[in-house]
Amino acid sequence: MYGLGILQGLGVTLKRLVETYTEDLKWGLKRYTTDEGFSNRQSPDTAGIFTVQYPEEKLAVPERFRFVPFLVVNDDDHPEEPGKYWCTACGICAKVCPPQCIWILRDSDPETGRPVPYPAKFWIDIDICMNCGFCAEFCPFDAIKMDHDYELASYDRTSAHVYDMEKLGKPLSYWQTIAPTRAEEERLAREAGELAKAARRRR
Ligand code: SF4
Ligand code: SF4
Repeated sequence: MYGLGILQGLGVTLKRLVETYTEDLKWGLKRYTTDEGFSNRQSPDTAGIFTVQYPEEKLAVPERFRFVPFLVVNDDDHPEEPGKYWCTACGICAKVCPPQCIWILRDSDPETGRPVPYPAKFWIDIDICMNCGFCAEFCPFDAIKMDHDYELASYDRTSAHVYDMEKLGKPLSYWQTIAPTRAEEERLAREAGELAKAARRRR
């Protein structure tokens, strides 16, 4: 029927409006003053319209949320190479980055001068980054990931917003905390890849 979609949309809006008041009546002040109320407002089952008292309150972001990238680094308790960046300086992320805001300088062997698969420098201009996630999608080594930290504003555009390796590096355990499902899927895929490689070598 012509106009049915409009009526359905209006119905959703009306439902949300009514729920806003019924939820406030149901929860009373508890909706805004208790942890339970905050959890309810964050949950997908919440109803009605509500205010988030940012920055005192921050809604949890979903696992797939993405802001600027970070570089994965071994945890400090990694047995062999604590603090090692996973990046191999292959340059793929810099190539696929649509606004070209990644710059990488490959490291070299101090004795032979030959390039080694490790970055000497790595910069991302986070003001140019458009948070598309291509770098993380295309990295063949799971070495760059999209962060959840969105509070990056500052008055110092020049030095504060061009992130160097030190600023970009975050431990694997951080990635496992913010994206546990994805991190586990990647771990399993890496393990399967290693097993397949070992089987090929044995042949
Ligand atoms: S694609 Fe991955 S491994 Fe290659 S340079 Fe970028 S972060 Fe490093
Ligand atoms: S998220 Fe997109 S724009 Fe930002 S650095 Fe990665 S590829 Fe470039």
